[in-house]
Amino acid sequence: MKCPICRNETLDAKDYLYEVPEEGKVVLSNWECSSCGYKFRDVKPYESSEPKRLELVVENEEDMASLVYRSSFAKVYIPELGFEAEPLNGSGAVTTVRGLLEIFLDQIGNLMDTHDLREAMEGKRAFTLVIEDGSGLSFIKNEKTKVTQSLSLFPP
Ligand SMILES: [Zn+2]
Repeated sequence: MKCPICRNETLDAKDYLYEVPEEGKVVLSNWECSSCGYKFRDVKPYESSEPKRLELVVENEEDMASLVYRSSFAKVYIPELGFEAEPLNGSGAVTTVRGLLEIFLDQIGNLMDTHDLREAMEGKRAFTLVIEDGSGLSFIKNEKTKVTQSLSLFPP
């Protein structure tokens, strides 16, 4: 396969299907380029489903550490902070709530005031993490997560 970085036909792309107890089937991707050393790892649910809206009120350290899968179709926003992020191009990403905020901070750091976002990261204020995903692949591993199918941003 062609490498997205160096464009050589030296990308070794392997996708594995795994059965995870209580989670069902997931696809693990393991791509590696022998020319430039590019690596890509991803994990996502095997079966795609209906559009989904995920909502988690993040109030404490435990919430901040919740595992998040943000698919490439997902739009993420935090109403209290007036923040929103468009769907990613390409691949999804596994991270934590804190990891997501760090990525956002990186992305917008030079563009706008990050005071509120930093306060949220330091646990000084509660906020709501909303993920709207037309593919329904995204998930937040936290029992408090509210899942609905009414998407404001992805009308049927
Ligand atoms: Zn390469």
